[in-house]
Amino acid sequence: MVKIMHAALKEIYDKVVARDPDQPEFHQAVEEVLDCLGPAIDAHPEYIPIVEALCEPERAVQFRVPWYDDSGELHVNRGFRIQFNGAIGPYKGGLRFHPTVNLSILKFLAFEQIFKNSLTGLPMGGGKGGSDFNPKGKSDAEVMRFCQSFMMELWRHIGHDTDVPAGDIGVGGREIGYLFGMYKKLQNEFTAGVLTGKGMSYGGSLIRPEATGYGLVYFVREMLATKGTDFNGKTVSISGSGNVAQFACQKVTELGGKVVTMSDSRGFVHDPAGIDADKLAWIMELKNVRRGRISEYAEHHDGVIFTESQPEPSTNGMWSIKVDVALPCATQNEINQEEAAALVANGVMAVGEGANMPTTPEGLAVFQEANVMFAPGKASNAGGVATSGLEMAQNSARLNWGRKKVDKKLSEIMVNIHKTAYDTAEKYGRPGDYVFGANIAGFLKVAEAMNAQGVL
Ligand code: NDP
Repeated sequence: MVKIMHAALKEIYDKVVARDPDQPEFHQAVEEVLDCLGPAIDAHPEYIPIVEALCEPERAVQFRVPWYDDSGELHVNRGFRIQFNGAIGPYKGGLRFHPTVNLSILKFLAFEQIFKNSLTGLPMGGGKGGSDFNPKGKSDAEVMRFCQSFMMELWRHIGHDTDVPAGDIGVGGREIGYLFGMYKKLQNEFTAGVLTGKGMSYGGSLIRPEATGYGLVYFVREMLATKGTDFNGKTVSISGSGNVAQFACQKVTELGGKVVTMSDSRGFVHDPAGIDADKLAWIMELKNVRRGRISEYAEHHDGVIFTESQPEPSTNGMWSIKVDVALPCATQNEINQEEAAALVANGVMAVGEGANMPTTPEGLAVFQEANVMFAPGKASNAGGVATSGLEMAQNSARLNWGRKKVDKKLSEIMVNIHKTAYDTAEKYGRPGDYVFGANIAGFLKVAEAMNAQGVL
């Protein structure tokens, strides 16, 4: 059942669905935003056509990516780049390599990215891209050949002032390195600012790998502070065991919390004693170097239970574990209505989305009904793209900032995003509703820029 009450916004939503009926994830992302925009549109009726334009990508490119595996067999994948909105800056957003990637998923991610980037306060438009290529089980040489073939087409669509991709699921430091190398060769120029998430030896920023996970925890820290509490002594469940999950775990532990779960696409581990710094270092080696399964953690640590759980997203049962704070950091639609109800029944106090759209609309309704503090990904995981913005600033200035300086700026940005979402929710009549506040605040800046620039 569509939630949008505002007649003009509902009409726009219906057109979006009619135009691309086979894109459910994109519809879900549009519905969540449009459902919040009523008060902003009532205050600015001139923005109604802007909303309609905002729901259509400025450009969506799809291309063929042929590559040879180590045995000489040819494979053909599909590549995409969605340049959704460039009103406030160059398109900016990650690349996802995962077999589930399709136009609907990338349009949802690129659409979310518009509002997220706006909230950071930095001049970045919204984009996203990727491929249905699965890097799992591939050799380094195969991943390199794939990345080079992918960049041979992507190259003509990007640029440091045009469109600046970064990592996402399946795209980490290794992939960014291969992509950057090929771009540099094709362009015959060392343009550091064309990709972010680079290695430190060729233009990367300190704290960029940590930024999304740290930023998430900084946001939730601010949210807890509004109720006079903090992470100290809190039990926390985290899903995923990739980039975002690892650094969220590290920061929660540093702030005195105890992380008791992590997962991957095969299942989850429950460690009631807590995943401390040493155990996390073990997981990082497992996931980033050996590229193994999270189940191995249970085999090597006492008192840990592994629950195999398929089909994806594979956190089945994980959200029934009693915790104070839940941080979904794997993928979209990980917490459904029943799982949200289980968290609420166990007294969860706050939920912070590290992944993009990990909570279904029905799950979100359960949290809102129960007055659980809820941080939507477009606000709480914006630390990654914000630090990418800082990486671009360092590349332009040909400087490298120190670790402390970048971390301080990241923390300040997250404090500001929290304040913006909090204050906007209060101003428009729904105090404490961060979903509402983040959507309205993110939208207003982009709408103002689109309005000023005319019909494009
Ligand atoms: P990684 O590839 O580093 O890690 C993803 C983790 O999620 C892995 O543990 C993976 O398990 C698990 N996972 C992926 N897909 C599924 C699935 N369908 N079912 C169950 N588990 C799954 O990605 P990131 O940590 O970078 O990204 C995680 C989330 O955070 C994504 O939603 C991404 O869009 C979002 N995000 C990331 C940012 C960043 O800076 N990296 C910035 C903002 C948001 P397995 O190892 O088995 O694949």
